[in-house]
Amino acid sequence: MPVNDIKNALRNKQSQLMVRIDAIERDFKKGRSADFEEQTTESENNEVLDEIHHEAKSELRQINSALTQIENDEYGVCIKCTATIATERLKALPYANTCISCAQ
Ligand SMILES: [Zn+2]
Repeated sequence: MPVNDIKNALRNKQSQLMVRIDAIERDFKKGRSADFEEQTTESENNEVLDEIHHEAKSELRQINSALTQIENDEYGVCIKCTATIATERLKALPYANTCISCAQ
C-alpha cells in the first residue's frame, strides 16, 4: 500500500476522532444539572462518555505516532523487535506499531 494512501487514511481518521473528542468534551461541560434525578442519569451517561472519550484519545495517540513514524521513515517497523510489520496487518490496523508476534 503506498505510504500516501496510509497517510490520508490516518489523517481522515485523525480528524474524525478530533471531532468526536471535541463533541464529547462539550457534552461534559454542558451536562451539569442541579436536578438530582437528572444528575444520576447524567453520571451514568458520563461513565459511558468517559469510556468513549478515553478510547478515542488513545486511538488518536496511536494515529499521531503512526504519522510521526511515516514522517521519520520508520513506518511499518515493529517498535519491539524491529521486524517489518505484515502489510495485511497494516491494512487492517494502519496505526499498528508492533508485529503480530509482539502484539500477542
Ligand atoms: Zn515485533
